[in-house]
Amino acid sequence: MQDKMFVSPDKYLQGAGLLERSAQYISPFGNKILLISDDIVWEIAGDKFAKYLSNEGFTVKRATFNGESSANEVDRITDIGQSNKSEIIIGLGGGKTLDTAKGVSENLEGTLIIAPTAASADAPTAGLSVIYTDDGVFDHYAYYKQHSDLVLMDTQVVAGAPVRTLISGIADAFATNIEAKATEKGFGATFNGRGGVPTQAGLAIASKCEETLWKYAYEAVISNQNKIVTPELDKVVEANTLLSGLGFENGGLAAAHSIQDGFTAISGEVHKLTHGEKVAFGTLVQLVLQETPHEELEKYLEFYTTLGLPVTLEQMHLDKITDEEFTKIGEKATDPNETMSNMPFTVTSDMVINGMKAASAIAHQFIQTHDIKPLFHNPVLGKISGPSIKD
Ligand SMILES: [Zn+2]
Repeated sequence: MQDKMFVSPDKYLQGAGLLERSAQYISPFGNKILLISDDIVWEIAGDKFAKYLSNEGFTVKRATFNGESSANEVDRITDIGQSNKSEIIIGLGGGKTLDTAKGVSENLEGTLIIAPTAASADAPTAGLSVIYTDDGVFDHYAYYKQHSDLVLMDTQVVAGAPVRTLISGIADAFATNIEAKATEKGFGATFNGRGGVPTQAGLAIASKCEETLWKYAYEAVISNQNKIVTPELDKVVEANTLLSGLGFENGGLAAAHSIQDGFTAISGEVHKLTHGEKVAFGTLVQLVLQETPHEELEKYLEFYTTLGLPVTLEQMHLDKITDEEFTKIGEKATDPNETMSNMPFTVTSDMVINGMKAASAIAHQFIQTHDIKPLFHNPVLGKISGPSIKD
């Protein structure tokens, strides 16, 4: 039998207005804080948070994040931390800010505090970063010795963030259980860079994540549209961040994320879409590849369509790409380094391409025969035209 592995951050805290109650949780770790945030987040939440921390007696040095989680940016901010003898590194913002903070804290051997300002993806709790080149091209995953010491999830801040970010997080989180179940079936590896097959704990968390989203996603989106923290929004923020984060790291990724990675092999309008939106389509393709029965597939299509997530090639801006580009996506998605290898059967490049076309055609049929009123109109999706992709 293979060894099992389970990893997690040390502490996770979630609540409305949490940032401005956080001194009690931060103070055991020291006094000198390096606060990393970009200019936009600084205006919305950073300035206020820094003032609060200063009033509580902390010494706060701000490092302005330049927008790319690259090796150079990690080194640049590490230098700022070093010259200020920072003990505590706080990343405040979106995925790339948080990924940079993780690298800086590993270099400085300081306390790492992760404070997401949206529930848009499941990276905050993970012990890894996606490192890009300075020009924003994917470079590598950096796996760290330690997970974060503290994750601070302020639901009041999330309630004020754009609805599209919450829906992207729901889509990313919705893939978690589908991929974890495939990984378990395929005796695949967890996603922490050190191998190990999923624990029952990891799989149970992934399953709870999906259950929570089926029950409360729509109410959470409506709460976010009205900028209100409700019990439903609170549950979905936890699903998007903690349950999905622990679920993917300890359950493993499979086809859905490999297909999203496949899109990086081409350029074009597909990159107007967020990580979660691309994962939504990748998930649909995985469901088709693993022969999900019609009735079940329709439940997923209803869920995605109601949330304004992309289910067709047109919506993904992929309806006019060349055969060569399809091949590039298929080949990247089935690269031996991709998590496609966690699938319980061999998936070839042609299967990915056919799966994308089939998923889109099935979604067309669904949209024509069902009267779905989306909760959210995503202006970035391509328009669906004609009765089917063949016409
Ligand atoms: Zn993801």
